Amino acid sequence: MAHTICIANQKGGVGKTTTAVNLSAALAVAGKKTLLVDCDPQANATTGLGIDKQTIETSLYHGLIGQAPAADIIRDTGIEKLSLMPSKTELIGFEVEMMADAGRDKMLRALLGECASDYDYIIIDCPPSLSLLTLNAMTAANAVLITLQCEFYALEGLGQLMQTVKRIKQGLNRELTIEGILLTMFDSRTNLSNQVAENAEQYFKKLVFKTRIPRTVRLGEAPSYGKPIIFYDPSSVSALSYLALAKEVIRGRRRKDKVVIL
Ligand code: ATP
Ligand code: MG
Repeated sequence: MAHTICIANQKGGVGKTTTAVNLSAALAVAGKKTLLVDCDPQANATTGLGIDKQTIETSLYHGLIGQAPAADIIRDTGIEKLSLMPSKTELIGFEVEMMADAGRDKMLRALLGECASDYDYIIIDCPPSLSLLTLNAMTAANAVLITLQCEFYALEGLGQLMQTVKRIKQGLNRELTIEGILLTMFDSRTNLSNQVAENAEQYFKKLVFKTRIPRTVRLGEAPSYGKPIIFYDPSSVSALSYLALAKEVIRGRRRKDKVVIL
């Protein structure tokens, strides 16, 4: 059965999609059968893998509203062992259309239940909000990976995010844990980055991944070529950092003394 990780932070532009795409690709390269689920109407993870939105007829939206089975939505990415459940702008409609549906929080869990046994890992890219889509992602997941951009307001709003995870754990998904907190866009030359890292480690201790994702031009460029960094620039520090993160995630799954602070 797949280990399902949702990548979340209600803040925008903090490296969620970059992490979802590159961690998925790194897990696939490490030999793990992986499904990337694009749960954001912006569909950045879909285009980041080089898939043209115009060619998508059946997207996650159709799966969530019960119009298509998972098997009809999942597609190949051209990368061995990596599949994608793509998204399109129409996913915006999900929230409004499901307003009156009592089971609206569990639609993604049901959909992924159809295919979870086919994968080692399922990675869900969340939108920048704590909306119904994010709640669905957290309800479908075993664990939440929080990306923390190394900038001044990084830790602000994290309390609210942790509260949401806790609420979901108490109500909709008792199994939910925190996979870890990932420092992104880290620049070791700046005091600010070092300060954010120090604060995060003081507060969240072992929950913070040892791997830090550096801020690099190459990582910013890769999506415009429709490629994960390990294929766009395999020997770069950015590629190595996502490979190291994948290793930590794989090790973490085997670790028995997993820290849970909820
Ligand atoms: P949103 O909340 O809008 O979904 P996000 O949290 O998914 O955003 P990304 O799209 O991953 O964030 O990143 C925001 C921007 O920063 C993108 O243009 C991305 O290419 C760039 N970026 C992400 N990580 C890095 C990095 N480590 N170094 C340089 N640029 C980065
Ligand atoms: Mg994103």
